[in-house]
Amino acid sequence: MRGRPFPVPRERRPFEEGSELNDLRIGVVGTGAIGRKHIKRISESLKGGNVVAVSDVAADGARQVAEEYGARFVADGYELIAADDVDAVIVSSWDPTHKDYVMACLEQGKYVFCEKPLATDSAGCREIVDAEMALGKRLVQVGFMRRYDRGYRQLKEVIDSGEIGTPLIMHCAHRNANMGPQYEDDYMITQVAIHEIDIVQWLLSDTYDRVRVLLPRSAGATNGVYHDPQIVLIETANGVCIDVELFMNCQFGYDIRCQAVGEKGIASLSDPSYPEISRDFQRGSKVADGWEARFTDAYAVELQEWIDSVRSDRAAGPNSWDGYAASVTADALLRSRDIQDYCSVDLPERPDFYRDSSVR
Ligand code: NAP
Repeated sequence: MRGRPFPVPRERRPFEEGSELNDLRIGVVGTGAIGRKHIKRISESLKGGNVVAVSDVAADGARQVAEEYGARFVADGYELIAADDVDAVIVSSWDPTHKDYVMACLEQGKYVFCEKPLATDSAGCREIVDAEMALGKRLVQVGFMRRYDRGYRQLKEVIDSGEIGTPLIMHCAHRNANMGPQYEDDYMITQVAIHEIDIVQWLLSDTYDRVRVLLPRSAGATNGVYHDPQIVLIETANGVCIDVELFMNCQFGYDIRCQAVGEKGIASLSDPSYPEISRDFQRGSKVADGWEARFTDAYAVELQEWIDSVRSDRAAGPNSWDGYAASVTADALLRSRDIQDYCSVDLPERPDFYRDSSVR
């Protein structure tokens, strides 16, 4: 935290439907790959929001983005967060910067959408949770966009309806075409598995009990620098067993799988990106080349719902506690990987403050 006392939450400007003058004025810190995509979405296809300021330590790129979308470039991210013409902030910078930028938004009493992870460890997430609770108003949303994906929402509906009976096992896979040798073991958990950690507890409305990481032999593309693939095992408080294959160099594409095995049936995540084509005595479909292609619709729904909720002065979607819970689980997985044994997930009970939108 950067030393200033917390103010009371800001009075919101009143927003009127149908008036561009009342668009939410958004500042974006981090104009790399996903920051640019979010700015493009807000500027070209979403309603009710306008990017007015951008910031990034990679100043040339940020200036270019500012010019392209009619925003102003602000050299310092904290200055952008404090600016009077910025109503709400998107943090899409490098992971280790997330915590301090989110804390600065809380200090300013401003709504903030923070890309995952909320912080690089659970202690950092806990600081955010404590600060937000002290403020007495929820302002933070975490970018767990899978909760906005049509397929995952359908899967949750099936599980919640009881159609496949009580869930017993979940099989998941998170595959990426090529990461090359410049990657780190920790990222396999903090950047990659973090999505499955969040989405599966959301699908099951359950909490995690203990976790384990298995390290099979690594693919040649890693040059022996990190372990890939890895297998994450999770046991939930209700006794569901989850396995997640993480494979960052699978070569064939970006492939996300999720299958719930229940006592009366099985429900599998649909893969919506491309149609199936039969031709030349073959049948099949393309595979997405990355996260943007696979989840492009989910990102749009996620940001539109964020803009809508902020304009009506209420927090919705994955909250700081969800970011904290995911990070406590990630920390346990990192420990498990290092000691090669099971580790317990010691998460305190969710406070009432964070209860109502934990599951959308
Ligand atoms: P990226 O292309 O590397 O962009 C990150 C940007 O942040 C870079 O321009 C980097 O500048 C900048 N940066 C570093 N330190 C900064 C600071 N102190 N203040 C402001 N900007 C700073 O990475 P990305 O793929 O866009 O990822 C950005 C974030 O989004 C990450 O946290 C990532 O985990 C998350 N993400 C989420 C999803 C999702 O599915 N929800 C998908 C992709 C990424 P330099 O390059 O000069 O360091």
